[in-house]
Amino acid sequence: MLSQDYDRIFLSPPHLGRHELNYVHKAIEDNWVAPAGPNLSGFEQDICHYTGAAHCIALSSGTAAIHLGLILLGVGSGDEVLCPSFTFVATANPILYQGATPVFVDSEAITWNMCPVRLREAIEDRLRLGKKPKALILVHLYGMPAQLQQLQAIAEFYDIPILEDAAEALGARYDGRRLGTFGMVGVFSFNGNKIITTSGGGALVTNKAEWAEQTRFLATQAKDPAPYYQHSAVGYNYRLSNILAGIGRGQMELIDSRVKARREIYAWYQKNLQDVAALQFGPTEPALGFSNRWLSTITLDPAHTTATPEQVRQHLETHNIESRPLWKPLHQQPLFAQAPSYGGEVSADLFARGLCLPSGSAMTETELRRVAGALREILLP
Ligand SMILES: *Cc1c(COP(=O)(O)O)cnc(C)c1O
Repeated sequence: MLSQDYDRIFLSPPHLGRHELNYVHKAIEDNWVAPAGPNLSGFEQDICHYTGAAHCIALSSGTAAIHLGLILLGVGSGDEVLCPSFTFVATANPILYQGATPVFVDSEAITWNMCPVRLREAIEDRLRLGKKPKALILVHLYGMPAQLQQLQAIAEFYDIPILEDAAEALGARYDGRRLGTFGMVGVFSFNGNKIITTSGGGALVTNKAEWAEQTRFLATQAKDPAPYYQHSAVGYNYRLSNILAGIGRGQMELIDSRVKARREIYAWYQKNLQDVAALQFGPTEPALGFSNRWLSTITLDPAHTTATPEQVRQHLETHNIESRPLWKPLHQQPLFAQAPSYGGEVSADLFARGLCLPSGSAMTETELRRVAGALREILLP
C-alpha cells in the first residue's frame, strides 16, 4: 500500500473474506493451475445455486460473456442490437466485435434503466426502416433492476430475444427472482470493482443446455471432436482460470452479506444527508424490484447548488476520497457517433448532474462520516 493510500477512501475496492485463500491454496497444491478444475466447476455450481439459473459458464470477463451471448443469439455482421445508452462501454463493444450496429435507447427517470416507451418507439422505427433488431440488451445499472415486466412484454410482442447484462447486479432481484435469469442469456462480471470479485472474470448463465455446451466450446477455441486440432468455427480463449475461480468460491459464500452492506451504505447516506437540499438520491427501486445498491449514486439539484459534479469530485479528492462521474451515455461517445439513438435527454441529464459515492462493502461508519462531512462542506451554504 502506498503511503498516500493510507487513509484514502476508494470508490468500490475488493472486499475479501477468509476462505478465498484456502480455495486458491488447494488449486496450487493439487496442480489445478489451468482454465479447468474443481474450483471452476464449484464456482459455476455456486452461481447456479444462488441465481437459480440452470447452466453457468465462468469466463475471463463480463465483456467476453456478452460477446459469446451475442453469438448465441445469432448476432452477426450488419445486424442491429438494441442497447441502453446509459451504461458502461463494455455493454456495447461486443456488438461491434460482431460487426453489428448498436441502436441506443434512453433511460427512464425512476430506475435510470431502459425506458419502455422509448424502446417501443425505437423498435417501431427500425421496423419501418425494414431493420428488425436481432437482440435486445438490458442492463441493470448500479445494481438497480430495470422495469422488467414492461420491457419483457415489449420484447415478447416483437419477438426479440433479451441478453441481460447483470454485470453490476449480482444479488439483486425482480419479483423474487435473481437478475440475470430473465433473459435468454444472462451475464455477470467479477471485475475488481464489482460487488464480488475474482480480480477479473465473468460468467454467462442460460437455461438452454445446448447453449451452455456451445459457450464452453466457443470459449475454448472451438475444438471439433477429433483426436487432432480441427476447427470449423471461430473460437475464443475466454475461460476463467481455476485459480481465480477459487477466489470466486470464497466470495460467493459472502454475497448476501455484501448485498446487505451495500444497501446499508446507501441507506446511511440517504438518512444522514437528507438535510442537504442540493443532493438528490436515486435511482429508485421499481415495483417488484430489489437493488443490490452496488454503487451509491446521487444527482445535484441545480435549484440548490451551483456546484458541478466535477467540482464535488475534486473537493472529495482534496479529502483523499475517490468518487466518479456517472457513466457517460454511449450516444454521446465519439466511438458511437454514427449509431442510431432514440431519446437521450434523460441519460444526458443524469450524466451532467450525477456522481458515484464511495460504496465499498467494507466501509466503516467513520469513513461514511468523512464522506458526508466533505459533501456538507461544499454543498451547504
Ligand atoms: C463491468 C461491466 C461490464 C464488463 O465486465 P468486465 O468483467 O469488466 O469485462 C459490462 N457491463 C457493465 C454494465 C459493467 O458494469
